[in-house]
Amino acid sequence: MKKIKTSLKGRKCKFPLCKHILSIYNHELYCHVHLNQAVPERHLAAAKSK
Ligand SMILES: [Zn+2]
Repeated sequence: MKKIKTSLKGRKCKFPLCKHILSIYNHELYCHVHLNQAVPERHLAAAKSK
């Protein structure tokens, strides 16, 4: 039997007010909609310094 790594069932996207339930195959903290929008603050600071 093969074991596939999955995340906990029924996790919600961490984006404020987002109620998307994450797939057990999605190991990210955000749903696919917000994954690109959830930019770490460090990254933002680096972009601003230019
Ligand atoms: Zn989301």
